[in-house]
Amino acid sequence: MRRLGWHLRELTGLVLKTCCPLCQRSANQAFCLDCSRRLHRCQLAPAAQWQPGTLPVFAWGSYSGSLKRAIACLKYENNPQLARPLAHWLAQSWLSHSRPGRLTVVPIPIHVSKRKQRGFNQADLLAESFCEFSRLPLERQGLERSQATTAQFTLSAAEREQNLANAFTPGPAFRKKPPASPVLLLDDIYTTGATARSAAQTLRQHGIRVYGVAVVARTMSYLPNLERS
Ligand SMILES: [Zn+2]
Repeated sequence: MRRLGWHLRELTGLVLKTCCPLCQRSANQAFCLDCSRRLHRCQLAPAAQWQPGTLPVFAWGSYSGSLKRAIACLKYENNPQLARPLAHWLAQSWLSHSRPGRLTVVPIPIHVSKRKQRGFNQADLLAESFCEFSRLPLERQGLERSQATTAQFTLSAAEREQNLANAFTPGPAFRKKPPASPVLLLDDIYTTGATARSAAQTLRQHGIRVYGVAVVARTMSYLPNLERS
């Protein structure tokens, strides 16, 4: 029902002026013009959007300021309609870079209890819109969250890795048939990278190639030694 609710809200938003969820002023689009400009100031320069490594990370913006606020607003204040513009910006940047061949996009799942509580998984919504704009194939059931984990932000780096060990299993689609092309994981944010690394490790252990992870925002103030493994 919640999902139907946001579809309706999206539709009515096309014909009615809505309220910008970040500043409460009227807006013709998901964000008002001022907030949209502020959000674009968080966009990373093209050369900084790719972060190489064993799990390359592609990020649209820096996880700070208005962008951090917008993602919190999407996840914790029941604004699933914000996934679409954020994923659109991510896809636009993705398409402007030289790209690998065909990839299968897999959203990073949240545990079913969290999904029930929130009403949606923001990574699912972002992946749907990202695939719509990028024309990459989407596999919603590529991964499953196998256990509820403690909220990551309450833990130290070492505790995060432990908390996430075995947190994922290949989803029903990949258990039935592994993807023909490498996987591009998709999530809202990348902070220490523990979640993305755990998801990638699970797929790789099952012989599934993982190209990297694409996110709306990544933190720029991590400790480099957390990112090497
Ligand atoms: Zn605004």
